[in-house]
Amino acid sequence: MASVNTIRGPVDSVDLGWTLSHEHLSTSTPGADRIPGLMDSPERRQEMIDRSVEALATARRSGIESIIDLTPFDLGRQAWLFEEVARRHDEHQVNVICATGAYRWISPVYFGWSEDEIAERFVREIEDGIDGTGPRAGIIKLAWDLEARITDGGRWSPRTILEKVARGAARAAKATGVPISCHTLAADQVGIPLLDLFEEEGLDLRAVTIGHSNDTQDMDYLTALAKRGATVGLDRFFLTTPEYVDQRAGIALALAQAGYAEQTCLGHDAQPAGFWARWSEERRPSLWTLVPDHQVPWLLDHGATSEQVDAMMRASIRATFDAAAGMKG
Ligand SMILES: [Zn+2]
Repeated sequence: MASVNTIRGPVDSVDLGWTLSHEHLSTSTPGADRIPGLMDSPERRQEMIDRSVEALATARRSGIESIIDLTPFDLGRQAWLFEEVARRHDEHQVNVICATGAYRWISPVYFGWSEDEIAERFVREIEDGIDGTGPRAGIIKLAWDLEARITDGGRWSPRTILEKVARGAARAAKATGVPISCHTLAADQVGIPLLDLFEEEGLDLRAVTIGHSNDTQDMDYLTALAKRGATVGLDRFFLTTPEYVDQRAGIALALAQAGYAEQTCLGHDAQPAGFWARWSEERRPSLWTLVPDHQVPWLLDHGATSEQVDAMMRASIRATFDAAAGMKG
């Protein structure tokens, strides 16, 4: 059992219920709120709030009780949006967990900081609140993608800086007892070096989710992650065409049948109020229902038990929070 920071305050990990492991209310870029025409009008901000509330309420009607928003400041996190969505909890009744941590390429603010100085920043967002005064972060996000391939440049290579920030994240996780959730480039199998690094830092790997793992179908890689104790995030689910559902849900079924349902979590990596796509796109309030309304029925039709589905939707995520809390002691 662990106390989990949500945007409305602490919730017990046993009460999180069915949880989507990797979502965003909105993503953009740091300083996006000061880009003319983007979100600097009260009307646009109101629409961002309304879209987020509507998407949460729609997910709730499909059985989703919590979502994890993995948007650190350098992916354009907006504390005011979390505060407004928290204020309208009665309309959607979904717990939202927000994140500290770092997105891809690594913001230059980290270039000159040591691992411990980076950890201190993450700890402050977990203990005092995001942006200093906002809701407290409940999880640490890291992102390793194409840039993790760039190893030349010595201490200034993207890989070296990514590794430094990951060590900072591990130290912050141990100090505060919150889990780490990683965006990874599955094709490069970067979950392996990430787990190696966390292990060196003495992290309990049960507190780590290696996300975007359903971008590969390499079961040797996925089971290797699970064997080491990590949770496998099958957290990209964008379509409902039969071939797509067969392929994506098939990975979840294979992991469950290999005995890893309790180390597999599901999500969409979708955002109702984001700027990743053009603003006119992503209007569907149902964007967080594809897992409960399409993937889950597919799993049950193809031989997964309801216990295995419940393990993927509830127990797996809870276990990451519980393991993380255990490290704090
Ligand atoms: Zn994401």
